Amino acid sequence: MNDRLRQARIGVLALQGAFAEHIATLHRLGADAVEVRTPAQMEELDGLILPGGESTTMGLVAERWGLVEPLRTWVHSGKPTWGTCAGMILLADRATGQKQGGQPLIGGLHVTVNRNYFGRQVNSFETTLNVPSFDPPLSPGIFIRAPAIVELGEDVEVLAELPDAVYVAVRQGPILATAFHPELTPDTRWHALFVEMAQPG
Ligand code: GLN
Repeated sequence: MNDRLRQARIGVLALQGAFAEHIATLHRLGADAVEVRTPAQMEELDGLILPGGESTTMGLVAERWGLVEPLRTWVHSGKPTWGTCAGMILLADRATGQKQGGQPLIGGLHVTVNRNYFGRQVNSFETTLNVPSFDPPLSPGIFIRAPAIVELGEDVEVLAELPDAVYVAVRQGPILATAFHPELTPDTRWHALFVEMAQPG
């Protein structure tokens, strides 16, 4: 098959959390999406999504299953990666508000995240985000015990923010990160953006 026409194959890390919803959204777009649980499965991918869930648990399971180093290699070699919520925490170079001992971060995204910026479970909320690069720019944002980016490093482009310099969607080259859960809304544009970022050739 002509390489340029080959569809991007997107893997969703399926250790814990909202992976099924990401797969369902990708399938709705007609994208090729698979669950990923082993380093070997990562070899056939063009892009990888780290879903929301609980970053401490996800990090511990990833460690137990020997995935932390392969994930670091994946991200640090510049392969397309999208972290939503807990996945965004794992991608951050620095996290504050971590549990005692913290969790192993994969890193690579030059930001500092605050793990539970918006408070606890009861502080989950839904809002309408302004995403200037989308047309039309309004997009729903579902925040569940959500983190936020509180410090931006080099080469990090802000795609959406809330008042008071609270950054909730950013891109740094092949890395996309969202503090909220696009896979729980009917707006498929974040997934479409990521599929495009992962397009081979
Ligand atoms: N704040 C949670 C954590 O630390 C993330 C919540 C989520 O992914 N919905 O893992």
